[in-house]
Amino acid sequence: MWRASVLTIFPEMFPGPLGASLAGKAREKGIWALEPVDLREFATDKHRTVDDTPAGGGPGMVMKADVIARAIDKVADDARPRLLMSPRGAPLTQARVAALAQGPGVVLLCGRFEGVDERVITGRNLEEVSIGDYVLSGGELGAMVLIDACVRLLPGVMGKEASGAEESFADGLLEYPQYTRPATWEGQPIPEVLVSGDHGKVAAWRRKEAEKLTRERRPDLWAGRGKK
Ligand code: SAH
Repeated sequence: MWRASVLTIFPEMFPGPLGASLAGKAREKGIWALEPVDLREFATDKHRTVDDTPAGGGPGMVMKADVIARAIDKVADDARPRLLMSPRGAPLTQARVAALAQGPGVVLLCGRFEGVDERVITGRNLEEVSIGDYVLSGGELGAMVLIDACVRLLPGVMGKEASGAEESFADGLLEYPQYTRPATWEGQPIPEVLVSGDHGKVAAWRRKEAEKLTRERRPDLWAGRGKK
């Protein structure tokens, strides 16, 4: 079973959206497990303090290394990758998501405030992962994004095994346009080739459209194709 442990000061946020739809059903089926871990339980004082003022001054608070380390040492006693959700991290990609989905699971640390004491990042070998170039107020939504992206790739989660292989990014391309009934909507017909029944032509059309979209919308992806 794929296991996600999430270290957070807001365990009540979970499962949240991960309890619904594909991910929720897969969890009920026992395909994956979610373990929210309350960081405050690893504080030692009666106020259950998890943060303190930044060394060197400045605004905000910093999450304490000792509290986080105790939580990690208790929870991450296995081979799962330990990831810190962080805007400084390597941007999450579909390739990384697919690799994580093939492993035993993840241990995710959710930052809050100004972030976490640098010493626990190095001291516990945490790999920083970002979900994009913007700043969230905490790592929890990032953790949910990462888990959702992984869980849908686990065997038995998506209806058709094939649907993961053809999607955006799977091939370094964005996905081709999709259509469904009615055959004509507001005067716009479904492209002829898609209703032709000719599977070869359909595949060629989709490929061409995917390439066109990728060139137009994501020149960065287009330029990087085949370079991996
Ligand atoms: N002061 C920090 C931002 C702290 S935001 C800085 O400038 O880098 C608080 C927490 O939200 C972070 O510790 C991290 O866990 C989470 N977070 C914010 N933006 C994120 C992003 N783009 N991806 C992943 N996690 C993020």
